[in-house]
Amino acid sequence: MSTGGPQARVPFTSEDYAARMRRAVADATRAGLDGLLVMPGPELVWLTGYRPTAITERLTVLVLTPDREPTLLVPTLERPDAEAAVGAPGLDIVDWADGEDPFARAAALVRAGATMGISDSAWAMHLIGVQDAVPGSSYRSLTQSLPMLRAVKDAAELARLEAAGAAADATYEQILGVRFAGRKETDVAADLARMLREFGHEQVDFTVVGSGPNGADPHHEAGHRTIEVGDAIVLDFGGLLDGYGSDTSRTVCVGEPSAEIRQVHEVVRLAQQAGVEAVRPGVACQEIDRAARAVITDAGYGERFIHRTGHGIGTTTHEPPYMIEGEEQPLVPGMCFSVEPGIYLPGRFGVRIEDIVTVTESGGQRFNNTSRDLHVVE
Ligand code: ZN
Ligand code: ZN
Repeated sequence: MSTGGPQARVPFTSEDYAARMRRAVADATRAGLDGLLVMPGPELVWLTGYRPTAITERLTVLVLTPDREPTLLVPTLERPDAEAAVGAPGLDIVDWADGEDPFARAAALVRAGATMGISDSAWAMHLIGVQDAVPGSSYRSLTQSLPMLRAVKDAAELARLEAAGAAADATYEQILGVRFAGRKETDVAADLARMLREFGHEQVDFTVVGSGPNGADPHHEAGHRTIEVGDAIVLDFGGLLDGYGSDTSRTVCVGEPSAEIRQVHEVVRLAQQAGVEAVRPGVACQEIDRAARAVITDAGYGERFIHRTGHGIGTTTHEPPYMIEGEEQPLVPGMCFSVEPGIYLPGRFGVRIEDIVTVTESGGQRFNNTSRDLHVVE
């Protein structure tokens, strides 16, 4: 159990980064790509440890190809930060100065006619600039070409995800003690954000407080509705701790729950349990969705479970693999994802229960371990 304050940092070694870059090149080659262009965003952080403080119109790009050392092209004024941040040996850092053409510099690293994978987070102006500078080149979405590149986590990454989960759990334990009735959803959301930071998160990505009818909208964040006695409230919150994500949901009730809230909550609890119990190596992602959905469908609420069962998590809080019908990717030890079934009754209330789960040799192991019983708050 976390006691708050900054968590102990689990260091990545320079070999961790070097291995990731080698794997990225090998995966790209297998996918029929001539290399990768990685712009600022989750892949660049994962591959090099470098997270530029400001992502701007100045071109920053990591070029990974099988025929040369990885090369990070940065604006001259960012070079000191990049040198301080990158954790990988054998990474060649080169810079371009204002007044130079950065796309000509990037083009010198990419062969004419090449098919390159490019980060989904790349700015269109940067893609177009490189494309115009490299004759006959073409580009593919990095996430679509290599969806499993970051999906299997190593031991140091698992430790960070576990720490992020423990901090989210500590936040949930603490939010149970605040007053809900008579306050606005945004007030409780602000409490959640403050607690996530107190328990070590450096970034808060979402703080959903869906009270009463608002809970029936899975994308509702938090609004100015005043919370009333009798409301079911969907709480769904997370962010980044040491660069790795947390994401957990619990549904609480203000005062005594109605029989219907109790019943719906129990169906979702059993569905979530069934989803977690279906996790083991070799099982297709869609089987996790099917296991959770079957419980909800059998209880008569199939039409009211209106989203996929889960998503991967790592340096972002939403990434492959997705637990969805049609996804046949088999689970592999080290994958981490959410299991988060829900039931949404329009105009009335919603229930969602969510844990982050990692695949181990023997089954699924949760990174969120707070009680999944329906908790009564004040
Ligand atoms: Zn969530
Ligand atoms: Zn989620």
